[in-house]
Amino acid sequence: MPCAFARVALNLPIADAFDYAVPPELRERLRVGCRVRVPFRSRQLVGYCVELLAAPSIEPDRVRGIIEVVDAEPLVDAAMLSLTRWVADYYACAWGEALEAALPAGVRSQATSRTVQIVEPALDDAHLRAAIAALPPRQRKRAAALDTLLSLKGEELTPQQLAQLAGCKAQVVHALRREGLVRYRPRVVTEHPVDDVEPEPPPAVELTDEQQQALDLIRERRKAGFAVVLLHGVTGSGKTEVYLRAIGDVVAEGKQAIVLVPEISLTPQTISRFKARFPRIAVLHSHLTPGQRYEQWLAIRNGQAQVVIGPRSAVFAPVPSLGIVVVDEEHENTYKQEDPAPRYHARDVAIVRAQRARALVILGSATPSLESFHNARRGRYAYALLAHRVRGLRMPPVEVVDMTEEMHETKRVVFISRRLEALMREALAADAQVMLFLNRRGYSTLVFCPRCKHALRCPRCQVPMVYHRRRNIALCHYCGEHLAPTGLCPACKVGQMRHFGAGTERIEDEIARKFPAYPLARMDTDTTRGRAAHQRLLDAFRCGATRILIGTQMIAKGLDFPRVTLVGVVSADSALYLPDFRAAERTFQLVEQVAGRAGRGPRGGRVVVQTSNPHHLSVLAAARHDYKLFAETELDQRRELGYPPFGHLLRVVVTAPASAAAEAKCRELASRLAPLSSPAPSAELQSPNPQSAIPNPQSHLEILGPVECPLANLKGKSRWQLLIKSPDRAGIRAAARALRPLAAGSAKLQVTLDIDPVSML
Ligand SMILES: [Zn+2]
Ligand SMILES: [Zn+2]
Repeated sequence: MPCAFARVALNLPIADAFDYAVPPELRERLRVGCRVRVPFRSRQLVGYCVELLAAPSIEPDRVRGIIEVVDAEPLVDAAMLSLTRWVADYYACAWGEALEAALPAGVRSQATSRTVQIVEPALDDAHLRAAIAALPPRQRKRAAALDTLLSLKGEELTPQQLAQLAGCKAQVVHALRREGLVRYRPRVVTEHPVDDVEPEPPPAVELTDEQQQALDLIRERRKAGFAVVLLHGVTGSGKTEVYLRAIGDVVAEGKQAIVLVPEISLTPQTISRFKARFPRIAVLHSHLTPGQRYEQWLAIRNGQAQVVIGPRSAVFAPVPSLGIVVVDEEHENTYKQEDPAPRYHARDVAIVRAQRARALVILGSATPSLESFHNARRGRYAYALLAHRVRGLRMPPVEVVDMTEEMHETKRVVFISRRLEALMREALAADAQVMLFLNRRGYSTLVFCPRCKHALRCPRCQVPMVYHRRRNIALCHYCGEHLAPTGLCPACKVGQMRHFGAGTERIEDEIARKFPAYPLARMDTDTTRGRAAHQRLLDAFRCGATRILIGTQMIAKGLDFPRVTLVGVVSADSALYLPDFRAAERTFQLVEQVAGRAGRGPRGGRVVVQTSNPHHLSVLAAARHDYKLFAETELDQRRELGYPPFGHLLRVVVTAPASAAAEAKCRELASRLAPLSSPAPSAELQSPNPQSAIPNPQSHLEILGPVECPLANLKGKSRWQLLIKSPDRAGIRAAARALRPLAAGSAKLQVTLDIDPVSML
């Protein structure tokens, strides 16, 4: 029976949903999952109908009416409503915000595809020929256009294409139309939302024993419906082949697969491996137009795509019958959305979604996150280990070079050690290729006056600015602010500014000086604007035109170049001293991933890691390719400190133009939490409304702060934070619920609640 009231979720942080009356004429059309236009204060907004009600939860005379039902068919089905409801609850945001994240912009605007005009003759052939013959000689261009049209009958040509072929201007074709000799027919350009390629027969890959065991485990677990399998495979161990076979099982049953990959790994090579096996795949690139996104979304929803590949947001792809989710490189930070809300982690959303759909999840990585490894260790996830590379290839030996020692011995500042240089000469002389990795772009990382100690800092963020020599600017990597650097110190006007530290530009210069005979390329966000540039650099390296490739994390993962026999980590220290409890984990992951680029061909390979911390666990463990050593030592420390995976975190960041205002707000929020941080929660926090009652955490919260964020200033605003630690999820939930009403903020002051934060800066 049609209902007289509806609950509508709006994309506003203030509340989850609002009640509206459904005018009688809209009652037949309105269904749950449709969007509606509603009045809100003095504006009109579009929201999602999430529930139909017989009676509103507020007084009926205060309820306003829905203006319009936007969609003829529900845009969101029951499963997606329930998943986004979970996202909103878990990540402490509004339901409408979660729904917006689940639907690409092109879907919300229902952007339609481009239409083009196709030129057709307006007369039959005989009459057209007669018309051509009747044209005066000075109109020979019109005659040429008509001749071309006649000779290419059946081709679909736009006026521009026809003009080009006939050697005239488009105006000539338009004139023919005005004279009634041709007409235009609009045609929708189909964007091929789902690639329908003839799959190549699967290459006759024989699985290694380890791959077969992993696949057997996956098949075994699938029988139970929902399960999570952590596929821990060293670099080059053939994880993708295991994914492909597991997906093959699911597709054979008529179900669909979602494959999440970090955006940086969404390369043609990755995609072609899937295309080779499955005829109908949808790839969710970030560079799709809104129209393409919408068509693709429809195709996915209709079940046309067997496999959906995409970054983080693909976890919401509306496949009708989900069979499996693969999260490749599951340890990657890019799976966490930082801004705007919902600040969700796609890996964790994938697990919840799969659980509801009774589907299987494969988390794949050479360096699993400690959270996932811990879950496998205590039996919550199944665990499959690929400890060996395919084709009998060996893991490359790693040499650690102590750069403090190196500078002591050479008595100068060096970025490339003598050992690395010697091995480079050896590799290049043997006709092999070299990759050098440094996770900092730009030329120098600090521009500094030795006389008065003045450092060039961003006026808006207070962080040191990075000098970019090619563009001759000092650039803030956080806000994009840039200055023209001067030789003379702007502070004391006497000292000369000097450059400290090295980024990829400086390494490129140094290598070009040392190895003038070998072509080299640099790959970082400065050299790869636009997808084509990215591919061009990789192609040049693949075919051997480039012998040395220098790059940031862009070259750290996924790439497979058999002729690379030497990989150099220019500095393993860049992440080591970040004020972040995951600094050691990030360093280990990065060094291990980079090392994995070496020795992927028959000639083997080796790795040189330069560091000032040769005895740091991250460096030592990566040098031995010993994940277990690293993970178990690091997990012991996390347990001691109550950090994830042994505790749960909520990070609250307050930004305001004035530091005092941010601090005051932070203190207010902290005082709100004080009752929760003692073992017995105070009664005054128990709201009379049972829906907003704060659950009793089983144990008390630890509140760190208020304190300035490590990045205390960003884009001209001050930042303060609270870090809330709880041994259980209930504590974090209670804290988030208590803070949400106070987190509305304003244009000047913003409060963000980040559950399971990844960025600690
Ligand atoms: Zn100075
Ligand atoms: Zn800045």
